[in-house]
Amino acid sequence: MPDGLESESRKLLGRLRDTMANQAAGQERLDQITHLTADSMGTEVCSIYLFRDDETLELCATQGLNPESVHQTRMKLGEGLVGRVARTGKVINAADAPSARGFRYMPETGEEIYSSFLGVPIQRLGEKLGVLVVQSKEAREFSADEIYALEVVAMVLAEMTELGAFVGEGAALRARHTQPVLIRGVTAQEGTAEGHIWLHEPRVVVTNLVADDPDTERTRLTEAVEHLRISVDQLLAGASGDSEQVQVLEAYRMFANSKGWLRRMEENIDRGLSAEAAVEKEQSDVRARMLQATDAYLRERLQDLDDLSNRLLRILTGQGHETGAELPENPILVARNIGPGELLEYGRQLRGIILEEGSVGSHAAIVARALAIPLVINAKRIQNEALNGDHVMVDGDQGVVHLRPDDTVVSAFRDKMAMQAKAQERYASIRDKAAVTLCGKTIRLDMNAGLMADLPSLESSGAEGVGLFRTELQFLVRSQMPKRTELAALYARVLDAAKGKRVVFRTLDIGSDKVLPYMAAEDEPNPALGWRAIRVGLDKPGVMRMQLQALLRAANGRPLSIMFPFIAQYEEYTAARAEVDKAVAREQKLGHALPEKLEIGAMLETPSLAFACNKFYEEVEFLSIGGNDLKQFFFAADRENERVRRRYDTLNVSFLSFLEGIIDRCNATNTRLSFCGEDAGRPVEALCLAAIGLQSLSMRPASVGPVKHLLRRCNLDDVRQVINDARDAGEQTVRPAVLEYLRGIG
Ligand code: PEP
Ligand code: MG
Repeated sequence: MPDGLESESRKLLGRLRDTMANQAAGQERLDQITHLTADSMGTEVCSIYLFRDDETLELCATQGLNPESVHQTRMKLGEGLVGRVARTGKVINAADAPSARGFRYMPETGEEIYSSFLGVPIQRLGEKLGVLVVQSKEAREFSADEIYALEVVAMVLAEMTELGAFVGEGAALRARHTQPVLIRGVTAQEGTAEGHIWLHEPRVVVTNLVADDPDTERTRLTEAVEHLRISVDQLLAGASGDSEQVQVLEAYRMFANSKGWLRRMEENIDRGLSAEAAVEKEQSDVRARMLQATDAYLRERLQDLDDLSNRLLRILTGQGHETGAELPENPILVARNIGPGELLEYGRQLRGIILEEGSVGSHAAIVARALAIPLVINAKRIQNEALNGDHVMVDGDQGVVHLRPDDTVVSAFRDKMAMQAKAQERYASIRDKAAVTLCGKTIRLDMNAGLMADLPSLESSGAEGVGLFRTELQFLVRSQMPKRTELAALYARVLDAAKGKRVVFRTLDIGSDKVLPYMAAEDEPNPALGWRAIRVGLDKPGVMRMQLQALLRAANGRPLSIMFPFIAQYEEYTAARAEVDKAVAREQKLGHALPEKLEIGAMLETPSLAFACNKFYEEVEFLSIGGNDLKQFFFAADRENERVRRRYDTLNVSFLSFLEGIIDRCNATNTRLSFCGEDAGRPVEALCLAAIGLQSLSMRPASVGPVKHLLRRCNLDDVRQVINDARDAGEQTVRPAVLEYLRGIG
């Protein structure tokens, strides 16, 4: 950049800093900025357009256009050149604006006499705030340096907006982070919670955007980058194997050592920015690229670079949670994403969790579910909107977050929570009673578990035992493969805590969505149909053998129930069972105590097993229907895919008829059968499952009360009749008919 321009840019930044520092009201500051910018860039016009709402931009300050049009001229997102800059987040540089595509003339502004147009987005951390424009009579294209200079002004504007610099009487903007915001996400764990925001990664606020001494800033940047490199190296040294974590860290290291990255930030410093503003400017550019990247791999790498910039900003500003910083009262965690281990560290202290990304089947979601903490995922903008300590209400049932709710929302939400609390009291009163229906049938209700943290629920929920212990959770939340002795100790503690109640341990169910951080992930075209669960166990039996031994040792003479996941054919069951027999023989040889009673079962999660030979049904000691998987394969609808996962009703007559076939086979062979998918915990679904003949259901602990409460009020013979009638009448799903029946019983 020529020296002249560089010092121009530096001068402009210096004057902007003075504007920031003075005590002027918000509107006055905006006016000053348009004036300074037009002056410095040698243009007749400089205008600031800001978002009034998500769809509307408003002219908020101008130098050169008709002053009467300020706060009057508005345009929709995408409308005219300004609207296009806002929508695409891209610069528009037009020498002859009136003939540019999409130009829309705003007569009240008097802009018709200006030929050239340069518009840049005003955005902060990927959030669009408005558009900054310069125009001039002379028909010319603006140079790259001029574009850069305007972008820097836009960035300063964005930072000042964040700091509330334009708020005030008659001003353009309402204060940020003070208004109520409603964010719609996706439910990953039901439940409601009220509390205060705790940002997992607190936002960094840069207050010193402009610096006088580039040498000092360069040194600060170089030192911070060095610090960053060392910390990434240390993280890498501590990470194990060829895990995803290692891959991410390798990418971090590559970026941290990238000369281009450092050079771009140094150039920003040369033009007058402080070291932190230089990092943020580069980060903004990365975010803009990220929004446009269609390639998933590229987007991920840009995401890594974004994370790295955050780390660098934290090093430079010293911001972040101080060690020992205390969680607020009733903390609601906000993060972009979070690993299961980190989530477990917070544990039950959390009242709720809101993730900007995440997926229903992510490990974090699994842990949140295990801890019964309401979780909303895909809550867009939450990280930009929320501040530490903000009041928030999380509606995990609807997947909605009310940030800084107003009084009406607060009272409606509290009413809802009070009703839920009342229902909980009702459930507590029947906790020690059996789930006996009006027609006299008893349904066994067990709970699903996977962490030590679940075990206290065995008592509080009233569950009769653990119908599904997902052993993979213990593997997922660690950064290294657990050792046999650790597992044996853990399983022993589970059995101790169960105090003689039956616990069904499911052997490792990994693959598909459950990828162990320390095992190389298989790159499969269709992981849900791929190398997972028992397929991994049988092909690479080392881990399964270790787990079986740990289970036998943990039982130490006590009864033991083991269940194999994802059995698709008889032979898989016999092969897995043979591993148990071998493990038992080995333990015997070593002189260890053998379980007083050993039951070996299988999960029925693929339609094929419903049609397995009779011999399988005769041999298997118990079966548990894994409805989550079985349903996805039955309807060919991916349980992880938001677009299709709710498309087919569990109470669809085809699925119920299919389940009835399984029940009939089990009855004919006297095989103990239960159902342990999520549907077992939904009262209406559970009622229908019981009505078609399932006598044992296993569910998340919080569902035991609601399911029991409903079952005790119903006559299963009547419900079965309702189901049969609806099916005979050609209904697609029996749900409306069953709901009608429930309305009838009040
Ligand atoms: C199921 O598939 O229904 C099940 C209980 O197993 P998971 O949800 O762990 O796959
Ligand atoms: Mg399953």
